[in-house]
Amino acid sequence: MAIFESIPGDSGRRRYRVQSPVTFEPIGEFDAATKDEVVAAVERARKAQREWALLSFDERAAVMWRLVDQIVERQEEIIDVVVKETGKARSEAISMEVFSPCAAIAYYAKRAKKFLAPTVRRPAGIMGLAKKVKLVYKPLGVVGLITPWNGPVVLAMSPLVQALMAGNAVVHKPSEVTPLSALLIDSLTEAAGLPDDLYQVVQGDGQTGADLIDAGVDKISFTGSAATGRKVAAACGERLIPVTLELGGKDAMIVCADADLDVAAKGAVMGSCMNTGHYCCGTERIYVVDSVYDAFLEKVVDQTKALRQSDTGECDVGAVFWDKQMDIIERHMSDAVEKGAKVLVGGGRNPDLQGLYFQPTVVVDVDHDMALMREETFGPILAIQKVRDEDEALALANDSEYGLDGNVWTKDLEKGARIAEKMETGGVCVNDMAVTYGIPEAPFGGVKSSGVGQVNGEVGLRGYTHPHPIIIGKKGQASYPYTQKSEEQMQGFIRLLFGTKIGRLFT
Ligand code: NAD
Repeated sequence: MAIFESIPGDSGRRRYRVQSPVTFEPIGEFDAATKDEVVAAVERARKAQREWALLSFDERAAVMWRLVDQIVERQEEIIDVVVKETGKARSEAISMEVFSPCAAIAYYAKRAKKFLAPTVRRPAGIMGLAKKVKLVYKPLGVVGLITPWNGPVVLAMSPLVQALMAGNAVVHKPSEVTPLSALLIDSLTEAAGLPDDLYQVVQGDGQTGADLIDAGVDKISFTGSAATGRKVAAACGERLIPVTLELGGKDAMIVCADADLDVAAKGAVMGSCMNTGHYCCGTERIYVVDSVYDAFLEKVVDQTKALRQSDTGECDVGAVFWDKQMDIIERHMSDAVEKGAKVLVGGGRNPDLQGLYFQPTVVVDVDHDMALMREETFGPILAIQKVRDEDEALALANDSEYGLDGNVWTKDLEKGARIAEKMETGGVCVNDMAVTYGIPEAPFGGVKSSGVGQVNGEVGLRGYTHPHPIIIGKKGQASYPYTQKSEEQMQGFIRLLFGTKIGRLFT
C-alpha cells in the first residue's frame, strides 16, 4: 500500500495523495506548484525581505517569540498532524517536533543580535596603523529551504528561524511525504504575525525542488539524502549560489571494554530505534569489544524485547513513515540474513498491526559485506558486530562512505575524547547519542557523503549572511608614480618588517 502516490490532476498538473502509514486512510491531496508559481513566490519573498531586513533584531525576535507562543498553545494540533502524517510515536512528536523547534527559535531569538552584531577591528600588522575593518553581517535575500520527511517540523523550523533572524525571506519546499506539517508551519507563522510572503510554502516533488533552485533564490538550505544532495549541489554550482547540504548517515557506536554497560545499552536501543530509526544521526552500526560483548548483548536484547508498538495506546517505536523506506529496511535485513547474520529480536514487520510497523530488531554476526552495514537503513535496527579491540572498532567505524555523527562509550572520558577525535565524522558524542543536532552551540554537518557545510549555532546562523567587510582608511593611501626610489623604499621596508626579529613583532 503506497503512502504517497501520484493521482490525475487538473489541466496537466502533478497531483499527489498522501495516506496514513498507520491506517492507510487518505489524509490529504495536493498539487505540485508549477515553475511559474515557484518563481512568483520567490519574487514576492524578495519584496517582503526588503522591509524585513530594515527591522531591528529585537523587532524580528518579537515575532519569533510570538511564534513560540503559537507552538506552545497549539502543541496538540502539531502533535496530531505529525502523528497522523508520519505515524511516529506521540512522545517523539512532542520531543522532536514541539520541544526542539521551541528550543531552536528561543536560542536564535535571544542570541542572533549578539552573533550578528557588526564588529570593528584594527587589522593585524602594519595595516592596523592606517585602517579599520568593519564587518557587517548582511542578509543574503531569499533562501530556498528544501526539507525531508523524517522531522517535518523541526527540520524546517530550525533553518527557518535562523534565516529569518538573519534578515532573509524563505521559500520552503517540504517533502512530498509530509505536506500537512508544512501547511501547519505556514499557519503558525501567519498567526504569529510574520509579514506576508516572508515565509511561503511551495508544495511539490523533486521537480518542484529543482524549480526552486532555478527560481532566483540566493541560497539553498537542503536536508535530505546524499543522492539528491549531489543533484542539488550540481544545480547550485550551475547557478553559483551557496548551499548547505545536510545529508544521510551511517553512524557508528563504539562500546569500549570499560563502558558502563547499562548506560551504553540504553544508548544503543534509543540511538537505533528513536523516531523509528528515521534519524539522520541515529545509530546504524554498533561495534562492541569482545570482552564485554556477551554482557552488552544480553542487556540490549532484554531492552529491545520490552519496547512497545501500538497504533492506539502508549507506543515506544512508531510506524515506518512510508512504504519506500519499509522496502529499504526489508531489503537490508534479508540481504544480511542471506549472508549469515542472526536475528535475536524482531527482524520483520509487526504481524499484530495493520500499519507499516517494523519490529524493533537486534541482529548480530553482521559484517561490512552487508548492505545493512554500508548503506543508510533508517529503520529501528540494532546491528551489532563483535570486534577484537577499540582499534578495530575505530577502523570499522571509519570504513564508511558516510560521516555524519557517531558515539563512543567508555568510563575514561579522556580516552573517549581521543577516540572521538579520530572518528571521520562531522561530530561525535561520548556517552550519549544523537544529541548533536539538539545542541545549537555545536555546529552540525557531516563530512564525506554526509554533507557540505554546517548548520546551527553561531557558525550556522552566519551562513545565512554575507559577512561584508568595510575597510575604513584612517590615513595614508598608496599613490603613483612608481619610481626607483619608491621601489627601493618598499624593498627596504620588506627587509625590515619580515626579515628582522623586531619587524616581525609588527606582523
Ligand atoms: P530526499 O533526498 O529524497 O528528499 C529531500 C527533499 O529533496 C524532498 O523535499 C524532495 O522533494 C527534494 N528533492 C528531490 N529531488 C530533488 C531535486 N532534484 N532537486 C531539489 N530537491 C529535490 O530525502 P528524504 O527521503 O526526504 O529524507 C531522508 C534523508 O534525509 C535521509 O538520507 C536522512 O539521513 C537525511 N536527513 C539528513 C539530516 C541531516 O541533518 N544531515 C536530517 C534529516 C534527514
